[in-house]
Amino acid sequence: MNNRMNPRDRYYAEMRAAEERRAEAARRAAEENRRRELLEQKRRYNEKMERRRRHEAMMRKKKRRAYAGRVLLFVVCFLIIFTVVMLCVFVSFHMKPIELPDNDSYDVYFGEGDGRLETEVARAKLDRGGVRYVDYTKLAEYLSLTVVGGSGTYRFVIPGTEEETVFTDGSPEAYVNGEVYRMKGNAAVESGKVWVPLSFVSECMTGVNVTEDDEKMTITFLSSGSVGFTMKRAETLGPIPDGSTPVTDEPPVSDDPPEPEFTSDLSAFEQYMNPADRDAYLILVNSTHKIDRDYAPDDLVDIVNTRADGRKEVMRECAEKALEALFIELYANGYDAKGPSGYPVSVMSAYRSYDKQEYLFNIYTQNEMHDNPALTREEAEAITATYSARPGTSEHQTGLCVDMHNLPAADQKFASQEAYEWLRDNAWKFGFILRFPEDKEEITGITFEPWHYRFVGRYHAYKIWKAGMCLEEYVESLGGQA
Ligand SMILES: [Zn+2]
Repeated sequence: MNNRMNPRDRYYAEMRAAEERRAEAARRAAEENRRRELLEQKRRYNEKMERRRRHEAMMRKKKRRAYAGRVLLFVVCFLIIFTVVMLCVFVSFHMKPIELPDNDSYDVYFGEGDGRLETEVARAKLDRGGVRYVDYTKLAEYLSLTVVGGSGTYRFVIPGTEEETVFTDGSPEAYVNGEVYRMKGNAAVESGKVWVPLSFVSECMTGVNVTEDDEKMTITFLSSGSVGFTMKRAETLGPIPDGSTPVTDEPPVSDDPPEPEFTSDLSAFEQYMNPADRDAYLILVNSTHKIDRDYAPDDLVDIVNTRADGRKEVMRECAEKALEALFIELYANGYDAKGPSGYPVSVMSAYRSYDKQEYLFNIYTQNEMHDNPALTREEAEAITATYSARPGTSEHQTGLCVDMHNLPAADQKFASQEAYEWLRDNAWKFGFILRFPEDKEEITGITFEPWHYRFVGRYHAYKIWKAGMCLEEYVESLGGQA
């Protein structure tokens, strides 16, 4: 049929067919484009997902690392803290025996084995002013002594014998079989119990042994044979810790100082002027008896009688109280007039630490070298040493002495004042001595210092004053090394 189409129709048919082919080609091209586009999109999406996956993996890795770091840090910190804590525990454990607080207590045993009595005694009750005490009532109970007492006087009798000892509350004197024995401290009656210095037991008793263990903090009394009272005069009072402090071993009652008479009522100061532990303040410090760099008294108190110019000076408590009494009596005797300084006699200098003395000594030495540049350091120090103590050789570090006068500065002119004469003659009553007398310069090595007074307690002060000795001579006379 087609063949038989007329040319016009055929032309149109061909045109249509061509048209259709073009359209078909265009449609296919579009389809191809679309397919490529989709493929491209898919590729990009995959890429993006891959990147994200990698990023997340990296982040996870980082996080893990950070976590591990924190754990490590924690462990290290923990180890450090643990070590420090253990170290502290270790140190404090090992320090314990050295730093015993005052309120610690001792275990006191009477006897041994099953039947032994045990009491716990506070240190403060046991150690009073450097003297160790014992509850004598308890000891008497253990030793089966008979006790008769009341109104401050207690008599301890050994049954079946004539032997007895009598203690009086507040008195250092014990009557042993009728003889007076002076103890190292006063007897004290507390809630019906008689406390006496422990040394009484070893010095005046037989048949009882005392064992003190300061490390374990125990004291053990053990009866050994028949108990008796006997004064062992020949024995010494036992060692005093400081090497330069002598032991007084002669019968102490024979030359007690006379009872001083005062214008004022000084009864409240008696216990300080005449301390129960009479050897506690006898320490000797000079160029050959040096005092430790670290030594510092733990009972320093403010001095009342300093100049009214705001001066603050300190010294040991017992000496300060005795000094207060001295000033009350000095002023009451009319020596309260103002001197050349505009002040009556008053304290200018008392306790000085090692460091302060070292500082002063260095300043003086430098001044000497400045005044005379030809001097060597050694020569300058030797000159300084004639008027200022080298550090460690100054008595001022003991906290037991004062410089007092009424001049603008310490000067030998003070010796011409009436107040000086009174001090020279009366200081012993308050437990003080003139430490560097005019006629003892050869022995003390220090030029006359009418202003420097040293506390030793009345007992020794009286003996030193009466014998006209200086402290070095006195200590030597007691058998100590001067
Ligand atoms: Zn002085």
